[in-house]
Amino acid sequence: MYEIGQAEIDAVARVINSGQLFRYRGGEGGEVDTFERSLCAMLDQPYFVTVTSGTAALICGLVGLEIGPGDEVIVPGYTFMATASAVVAVGAIPVVVDIDESCCLDPVALERAIGPRTKAVIPVHMRGLPCDLDGIQAVCRRHGLKLLEDACQGFGGQYHGRWLGAIGDAGAYSFNHFKTISCGEGGGVTTASREVFERALTHHDSGTAFRGHAGEMTIPLFCGTNFRCNELLGAVLNVQLSRLAGIRTRLRERRDLLRERLDGSSAFELSPVNDVEGDLGAVVGLLFETAAQRQAAERHLASAGQGFAAGSPIDSGIHVYSRWQPIIEQRGSYHPAHDAYRRPENEGCRKTVTPDMLPRTLDILDRTLHLVLDTKTPLEHYAALAAKLRELG
Ligand SMILES: *Cc1c(COP(=O)(O)O)cnc(C)c1O
Repeated sequence: MYEIGQAEIDAVARVINSGQLFRYRGGEGGEVDTFERSLCAMLDQPYFVTVTSGTAALICGLVGLEIGPGDEVIVPGYTFMATASAVVAVGAIPVVVDIDESCCLDPVALERAIGPRTKAVIPVHMRGLPCDLDGIQAVCRRHGLKLLEDACQGFGGQYHGRWLGAIGDAGAYSFNHFKTISCGEGGGVTTASREVFERALTHHDSGTAFRGHAGEMTIPLFCGTNFRCNELLGAVLNVQLSRLAGIRTRLRERRDLLRERLDGSSAFELSPVNDVEGDLGAVVGLLFETAAQRQAAERHLASAGQGFAAGSPIDSGIHVYSRWQPIIEQRGSYHPAHDAYRRPENEGCRKTVTPDMLPRTLDILDRTLHLVLDTKTPLEHYAALAAKLRELG
């Protein structure tokens, strides 16, 4: 979905010519440093750490929130498996919960699923569609849960005027190939909490060995790992960020055209959106009464032979919990002593995930059709798509 061109080539060339590829050589005013300052300003957050992937960002967020063995973390049944495997990576157990018709975590199902071990929840803004964060935050407050937003697909989307990822206790972004902006592989974690930031920073930087101001830390250093971003990726990200406003405008033009022309159909409804204005515009969801009707609509679109990008989230492979093989088979690690599923601390946690355990989620996904929007595809293509769909009623 991202846009890329000569400006990124020039930015990377500048970094190579400078000979400073390492972020802590680039220092203040270096590429990664500049990206983090820009993100803090944009998100109105005091802290942002750039890392090497969205998965790394989720792991750093969980580390920041002190999630570990003995804890359960609630995740939705519709998300990339990395949301759940990040939980396993920090030694905790993911508990998979229903979505609602917005294709995001259902706050009612969330509250019902809370058990004595539940410590945190990771709502996921799938395809830039904002979760019902008011509902989810209310549940978190009532039960003392930490809130980590998985905004890996939600970068550039908003909820009630605030950027997705910058609303919970921490938020994770991905800048991989499939996301709003991209440096090939990359990510970032943001928080308003000094302590959460310090733990995330330490974890991403081998115990902050390279940070000049490691001495300013208020938490004791621990070993961590290395998810540091380099200046080449930082340079690409700075240019990519400058493209965000244009991407948002073009996506939303396409979304608004489709929503306007598809509203009022007798064949389907527009999927409910928790904040239509904040939605990124990466997809327009259609909700059918039955899966058979959704399939018929997909065949109708394919018959036009115009390459309309439309598909049901039920067919999105590893984005559906029923396809999370390692989670279902409870294999958390290469080494049994590292495996969250075998740790004695997790004995009382709810580990069972079976492919058919969330029939409501599977039914909603099966009845939903996502029209996938692209900024480089002209508006007329979407006008033709709308016209083809209105032939259904
Ligand atoms: C992409 C993605 C991730 C993981 O991001 P990577 O950069 O591939 O590690 C996590 N959660 C969701 C919802 C994603 O779409």
